[in-house]
Parts: sequence; C-alpha cells; structure tokens
Amino acid sequence: MRLKGKVALITGAGSGIGRSTALLFASQGAKVIVNDISDAQGSDTVAEIVRQGGEGLFLKGDVTKAEEVEAIARRAIERYRQIDVLFNNAGISGVGAVHETAEDLWDRVVNVNIKGVFLVSKAVLPHMMARRTGSIINMSSCIAEIGLQRRAVYSASKGAVLALTKSMQVDYATYNIRVNALLPGTILTPFVEEYLRKSYDNPEEAMESLKQRQLSGDLGRPEDVAQAALYLASDESRFMMGSPLYIDGGATFGKMA
Ligand code: NAP
Repeated sequence: MRLKGKVALITGAGSGIGRSTALLFASQGAKVIVNDISDAQGSDTVAEIVRQGGEGLFLKGDVTKAEEVEAIARRAIERYRQIDVLFNNAGISGVGAVHETAEDLWDRVVNVNIKGVFLVSKAVLPHMMARRTGSIINMSSCIAEIGLQRRAVYSASKGAVLALTKSMQVDYATYNIRVNALLPGTILTPFVEEYLRKSYDNPEEAMESLKQRQLSGDLGRPEDVAQAALYLASDESRFMMGSPLYIDGGATFGKMA
C-alpha cells in the first residue's frame, strides 16, 4: 500500500503504460482518476480497477483542449478534494525524418506530447500549490537522449518534455512539489505495434531489430514502466527532483561491442 491515501490523475490511461500504471497505483491504495481520449478504453481501465477491488474514476478528455482539461481537474477535485500525483502520460507517435514530416503531423505530435503536459499541469498545479504537496511525473522517452532514425518530431517533443520537467521542478520546489521524468526504451504496447505496422513492410523483422536496441535483447513491458512511476509517485522518491529516470533495458547508456 505504497500510495495509501493518495489521489492520482493519469492521462492516456486507457491503454499501454498508462493503463498498467493505473492498475498498479490502485492496487497500492491510490484512488485513480483515469483520463483518456477514448471512452471505451478509459471505462475499461476503471472497470478493471474496480474488479480488482480498487477505486477509480474515468474522466474523458483530450489533453490538448484547455476547457476539457480544466473540467477534468475541477471534477477530480469535486470528487476527491485533492490530487497528490499527476502522471502526464498521454502521448502519440510520429514517424519520419524532417523532410518527410508533414506540417500537420508535426503540429499534432507537438500538441499532444508537449502542450498536453503544459495544459494538464497548469490545471492541476494550483491545487497542489495550495496544499504544498505533489508529485508530477512527465512522460519523456530515452529518445530525448539518443538519436534514432526517422523520429524527428517525436524526439523533439520528448526532449522538450525533459527540459520542461527541469524547469517546472525549479519553479515548484518551494511548494514541496516534485517533478520528474520517465525515459522508457521501447515498450511493447499498442503504440509500438501501430508504429511497426505503419512504418515497416515486414513488422516481424523490424520487431527483431527493435529488440536488439536494448542490452536486454527484448522490449520492455508496460509493467516495467509502471513500477518506475510508482516509485516517483510514492514518498520513497522524496529526494528525486527534476530527474530523468531511465527504464530502457540499457538502450541509452549501454552498447554491445
Ligand atoms: P498507447 O498504448 O497508445 O497509450 C496512450 C493512450 O493515450 C491511448 O489510450 C491514447 O488513446 C491516449 N491518448 C492519445 N491522445 C490523447 C489525448 N490527446 N488526450 C488524452 N489521451 C490521449 O501508448 P503507450 O505506449 O502506453 O505510451 C504512453 C506514453 O509513453 C506516451 O507518451 C509515449 O510517447 C510514451 N513512451 C512510450 C514508449 C513505448 O515504447 N511504448 C517509449 C517511450 C515513451 P487512443 O488509443 O485513442 O489514441
């Protein structure tokens, strides 16, 4: 029960890493506010939380729409009076080198992956500041640190999230609010399955080469990232501030000879 008494808001919690984290947080005693743009996926996460004996609330909304985000924060506070943990997890992929990236894809990825973090944080921070407590976890990626082929806008967006995390930490340290970032390697989720389908003629061959990027020789699981999020959400990480936390099977720092 590492999150007993805490209320956590997780964006994009209808699938993949967000869903896995929502289930883990609930199993650790948190009341979990599940946000997602998709009704079916978000409701399904909450149904699973409840089935496992936890407490959850689904609040649908698009993280790029200020009015929807403000409504989510308002309804969360009405229901639970507090938000202790914000996990800015919602994100989308974007494939292509700069010359291949359409302007509307650039705008979409930047909007969801960067502006989404800004808007949700902006809506939640006043509540955390008033209570002088909080942990914000921003979803970056190890792609913020390493160059990968044909990922121009995606890497730019995740680099921006890492920079924003450090800047936010400085601004909110005096409010006893911690802001850290997660930097996963490749994690097997619907996001990656779609990327493989859309980007490669032979997705199975591509999957093998993705696995070799990690020293582990395999992809990560959503649960691997959820465990790292749990650490950042809990008071056990009280001395982590403005830090990148890598969960990447060695993709960033390791290299086979
Ligand atoms: P996922 O399975 O696609 O889950 C993302 C969820 O976010 C989906 O339910 C998606 O809904 C939702 N979403 C998309 N746009 C949204 C919006 N505007 N407002 C609210 N919700 C929205 O992806 P994942 O692999 O778990 O990735 C989660 C996060 O981890 C992302 O930020 C991603 O960039 C990051 N990440 C992933 C990996 C990886 O290898 N999987 C590695 C590093 C970082 P729809 O399905 O309806 O679009």
